[in-house]
Formats: sequence, structure tokens, C-alpha cells
Amino acid sequence: MEKLYNKNDECCACGACVNVCPKNAVSMKEDKYGFLFPSIDENLCIDCHMCKKVCAYQNITETNTPLKTWVAVSKDKQKLEKSASGGVFYTLANETVKNGGCAVGAGFDSNFNLNHITVRNSEELKKLQGSKYTQSSTNLIFRDIKKMLNSGERVLFSGCPCQVAGLKAYLGKDYENLFTIDLICHGVPSNRAFKDYIKVLENRKNVKINDFSFRDKSYGWGINGTAFTSDKKKIKALCTSSSYIYYFLHGLIYRKNCYSCKYACKNRTGDISIGDFWGIEKEHPELLGKNGIDESKGISVIIANTQKGIDTVEKNKDFFELYESSFEKASRGNAQLNHPSKYDSKREDILRLYAESGWEAVESRFNKNIGIKKYTGYVKSLIPKGLKRQLKKILR
Ligand SMILES: Cc1cc2nc3c(=O)[nH]c(=O)nc-3n(C[C@H](O)[C@H](O)[C@H](O)COP(=O)(O)OP(=O)(O)OC[C@H]3O[C@@H](n4cnc5c(N)ncnc54)[C@H](O)[C@@H]3O)c2cc1C
Repeated sequence: MEKLYNKNDECCACGACVNVCPKNAVSMKEDKYGFLFPSIDENLCIDCHMCKKVCAYQNITETNTPLKTWVAVSKDKQKLEKSASGGVFYTLANETVKNGGCAVGAGFDSNFNLNHITVRNSEELKKLQGSKYTQSSTNLIFRDIKKMLNSGERVLFSGCPCQVAGLKAYLGKDYENLFTIDLICHGVPSNRAFKDYIKVLENRKNVKINDFSFRDKSYGWGINGTAFTSDKKKIKALCTSSSYIYYFLHGLIYRKNCYSCKYACKNRTGDISIGDFWGIEKEHPELLGKNGIDESKGISVIIANTQKGIDTVEKNKDFFELYESSFEKASRGNAQLNHPSKYDSKREDILRLYAESGWEAVESRFNKNIGIKKYTGYVKSLIPKGLKRQLKKILR
């Protein structure tokens, strides 16, 4: 019977193997940390080896190098507020659905299960908007996408670079009506860990949480979140007060393969790559300031890797404040465009504790270790980025 991988750091759970199997012999199962791994039913497997051929981790799918790079911010301030960065995803997805196509991306269900889903109208795009810093399941969405593409429908697919690679490997050929967006990506924690974190918050605060924003812009442009309760209360989940966001941001709870990701580099899988333009104050100080871009609402980088990518951005240029930049400028402040996140052995301690004693124990460890930073982090979250920089300058 086919053996998909030797060590579990050779699987990124893109789901191409599940989708391609002609006998439905491959299904995803959780490991002890909640990470998904394919499992093959030996009674159904016919040794066709298709699953191994489409593996996005073990085979490098055709990638492209950056052709053009921009700084971008959506002009639609309402949509910008709900987007993680500068609202590039919503803008391009909205144009696709308004013209009869569909957008496929990651959306939570009411129990915080994160799945790739298909959206066909502007109103429902809010399900996909915003970064969810946990791994999304692709389930059988690649099969649906193939059907839609073959029927001539326009599809905009967005996901982590390995998911775009998995989709392309599964499709096996180019489609004129497919547009792909890969997100610049640190790495992904398991969806079960996130759901367990939510349960711990609910138990500790005695509330029911029904929404969670990983990037609440009321704190400015950064990685500070908020949990929203069923009785409309807000619970702060700042990068220094939320165990989950803190460990995510410090690269301590990712899937093993994320630390050796082959797509965290200049070679990109999507027609465009999008992310935050971190470091813009050094690379483009001329764009900020009094009459410049309001950085508190988020600023995107768009990297076009194909001619289709360039054409799409240029066709939609009126929806953005758009300024030309370069890959070199964008990559200086965004490590994941150069190399994967660095592995830290603390990861094993945290995940072992999680597997043995649940997220409640992880939360207690976090609270014990974070100490005073919890409060200084809160104060810092209240100071706008520009002012913080000026204060630093004065102190220096
Ligand atoms: C796990 C993860 C790690 C990231 N790491 C970085 C980084 O290191 N540097 C950086 O510059 N940017 C990173 N990003 C990208 C960034 O957070 C924004 O998603 C991106 O800039 C798009 O923002 P936007 O304002 O255009 O649109 P938004 O509306 O914020 O983006 C929504 C899009 O992201 C997709 N999405 C959201 N969560 C997931 C998920 N878990 N898996 C797959 N797709 C998802 C949705 O399907 C939708 O298409 C990361 C995103 C994720 C999900």
C-alpha cells in the first residue's frame, strides 16, 4: 500500500491527496495535538500513487518569481476595518463575485471549525474576510473547484501558499478562469488548539464566545485580537495577554512542516501574494505622515507573480490607494518572504503540555511566564504606531 510520507514533518495537510484519490481511500485524521494528517484505508487503496504525486510538500509545484510589487490600501474604509491588512482580498473577491464568479477561502462555522468554503455574493464575503491564525481544512473543495472551472465559472482561490500549491497539483493544468492568491504565511497552529483556547476563555470568563477577530483594528494595525461574547461584550486578546496569539506570533505552536516550509521564499505559488507591508515606515516614509496613508487601518503588500496577477491588480487599481514598490523593500520587513519561521524547542514543551493536560494548562503556564508584560503590552496597544516611533526616537 502507498506510504505517503516517512516523517510527519513531510506533510502540510493541503488536502490534495484526499481530493485526488479515485477510491476515496484517503481521509484526514487528527494527531494528539489536533494537526491533520492523511490516513489511507488499505482496503480501498489501489496503489495508483496519485496521492503521492500531488503532495504539495514533497513535490514543489510550479512557482513564479515576483514581477511587480505594490503598497496597497482599499479605498472602502468599512471593508478595510474588517480586513486583516489593507483589504486586498475583499476588493478582488468582490469584483469576482459581482461579475458572476465565486471566491473560495477560509471561513469559520459557528463552532470555530475553519474550512475552505465557496462564496458567491458580496454580503457573504464577510465570512472569508480577516485572517484566522489556525489551519483551515480544504476537505473536498478542490473537487468542487475543478467542476466549477470546467463549467466555465470564474474562481478566485485564496489560501496559504501550500494550499495554493496543493490545488494546482490536484488540477494538473492551468485554467484561464482561475485566479490564485497566496498569503504570506508564518505557519499554522491546529484548529483544535484554537477551539480549546476559546473554551478556556469561555470557562474562565463564564461567557459564550460567538465571534473572534485576530486583528482588531481598534488597537491600530498590529496583531491584537478581540473575542466577542453572545451578550455583546468584548474580551481583549492582545498579543501579550492571549496565550494563543502570543504563542502563534512567537512561532511556538505551528505544524512541524511550517518550520521547513518550501514556499516561505521568493518563489510564490499564487498569481499574486498578499500580506502586511511590515517595515513600510523604513521603506516608504514618503507615503506616511499627515497627508499620507492612515497606517492605523492596515497596509498591504501585493506581489504579482504572473502576468495575470499584474493585469488583475491594474484592472482594479481605482479601488485602491496603490503605489509601486519592490520585492526587496517588501521582503526586508517580512521574514516569511525569505525563509520559514525559526524552530524553537519550546514548541515541544508547550504542545506536550497541551496534549497531556489540555489548553487550560497551557493558559496557566502562559500567565505564569508572561508576568508584567501583560500590562505593559496593554499600555503599548493604546499608543498609535506613529507616536510610538516618535517616542522611541526621542528616547534614543
Ligand atoms: C496563518 C496565517 C499566517 C500569516 N502570516 C503572515 C506573515 O507572516 N506576514 C504577512 O505579511 N502576512 C501574513 N498573513 C497574511 C495576513 O494576515 C492577511 O491575511 C493578508 O495580508 C490579507 O489581508 P487582506 O486585508 O487583504 O484580506 P483579509 O480579508 O484579511 O484576508 C482574508 C483572506 O485570508 C484567507 N484566510 C484567512 N485565514 C486563513 C487561514 N487560516 N488559512 C487560509 N486562508 C486564510 C481568507 O480565506 C481570505 O481569503 C498570514 C495569514 C494567515 C492566515
